[in-house]
Amino acid sequence: MLSAWKLESDLAVKNAELRCKSTLDSMMEGCAIFDFNWICIYVNDANARHAHYNKEDMIGKNFLELFPGSTEGAFYQAYEKCMITRQPQSVTSEYCFPDGSSAWYEVKVQPVPEGIFVFSTDITVTKNTELALRNTLRRLQFHIENSPLAYVEFDNDSRIIQWSKNAEKIFGWTQEEVLGKHIWDFKWVYDEDVKAVEELNSDMSGSKRSSNLNTNRNYRKDGSVIVCEWYNSSLINPDGALDSISSLVLDITERMKAREDLEWKMQELLRAEEKMNEALCKLEKSNKELEHFAYISAHDLQEPLRMISTYTSMLERSFSDQIDGKALQYMVFIKEGACRMQHLIKDLLSYTRISNNAGYFKKVDTNQIVHKVLQNLKLQISDASAAICCGELPVITANPVQIEPLFLNLISNAIKFRGKAHPEIKIGCIQGETEWTFYVKDNGIGINPEFHQKIFIIFQRLYERAQYDGTGIGLSICQRIAEEHKGRIWVESAEGKGSTFFFTISKSLTPIS
Ligand code: ADP
Repeated sequence: MLSAWKLESDLAVKNAELRCKSTLDSMMEGCAIFDFNWICIYVNDANARHAHYNKEDMIGKNFLELFPGSTEGAFYQAYEKCMITRQPQSVTSEYCFPDGSSAWYEVKVQPVPEGIFVFSTDITVTKNTELALRNTLRRLQFHIENSPLAYVEFDNDSRIIQWSKNAEKIFGWTQEEVLGKHIWDFKWVYDEDVKAVEELNSDMSGSKRSSNLNTNRNYRKDGSVIVCEWYNSSLINPDGALDSISSLVLDITERMKAREDLEWKMQELLRAEEKMNEALCKLEKSNKELEHFAYISAHDLQEPLRMISTYTSMLERSFSDQIDGKALQYMVFIKEGACRMQHLIKDLLSYTRISNNAGYFKKVDTNQIVHKVLQNLKLQISDASAAICCGELPVITANPVQIEPLFLNLISNAIKFRGKAHPEIKIGCIQGETEWTFYVKDNGIGINPEFHQKIFIIFQRLYERAQYDGTGIGLSICQRIAEEHKGRIWVESAEGKGSTFFFTISKSLTPIS
């Protein structure tokens, strides 16, 4: 009877042991038992997995045989302490395997009669997530602190919960002074902007707006006022309630000042331009009046001048036998003077006439114009034995009345300002995208570059009349005509090396219908 009872109780113990072992064997957590000699006498699948071994390979082996060189490691230290002190220990550490891989374990060690019981949990995933999270936080904090913008964060009650170093720099208050304070607890928002900021705040808290850019003025701790751009965003919880508002703040005071300065300068510039335009209008008006006056005077002067030369010629004819040689000589001077004056008046009249027939553009065959000019200059050409070569010229839109004197002046100058050699003159045209460039090239005396601008000013001449006759008006007429055709005129020349005069005619002129 007793032995039957004992047998039954032994069986019950055996069954309980088996249940316990099978529970341990199938646990997610690792379990192992090391005896006092550090020999592994039990290990479950999970622990063998943690240790990178097969269960069978661990049983009967010494701890240091299984994990050589680990006596300095946190796990061994904890196991040893438990072995000696018989006190439970717990340790969380990373274990590096000989193949270079590593994992994190949370281990609890219990003293058991056989030695120590090790209970290990693989927390690598949790640990890596935590590390990644910590890294993200560290990066975020770094960027917040190192951004040129200030970072300010408010909780759902508008209390400050983050205040970056740049916020300290921009606004003057330290973190300690503002953290936990309500937005209206200190004089921070400029009085006149309080209402707008209040409205924006309530919009964002009520999740009407989740992000926005706002510009408002703020006080600094020292009371000075700055203009700030606020890039705000609100974080709304899944239940729709506000979690927090974060703001990046940029101090744009300098930029605003610069913009105001620029606007002020622009206005000044506009005012100056207005004044200049007014002055230009006045100048244009008085120019027109002056030209009209010059035209009338020149026109009216012709008549008395004609009388002077006519009557001087009559005097000469009728009384030449009664007056002496000296008086006759004087009469020649009078006639020469009158003749020069006639030339001058004629040139002045052509100068003033340019604006009289401005804008009269039509199709002009410049071959014909040049041909006509050469006909008119026939005498000078043959006197100087000039050789003139003219390339094929285009049909252009221009004012024929003006184009003719333009060529006439340039070609007659090319003959007049000749050197010792017979004049060789070349006329041509180069087609550009927006304009025609005509040129008249000679082998004459040339012009010192110092005078390349000056010669286009009215009455400016480089020689005495005795050397080269003229009035000094021709090139200024040419310049005005080129300008009338939205063009320019210039010379390329050097003393003794001949000259090439260029002028352009815009292709954008519209012929009158
Ligand atoms: P003018 O021919 O009546 O003197 P212009 O206005 O036509 O007046 O010319 C101004 C000055 O430019 C001339 O006096 C001369 O000194 C210089 N000039 C003009 N054309 C030539 C040229 N082809 N070669 C050298 N000098 C020139």
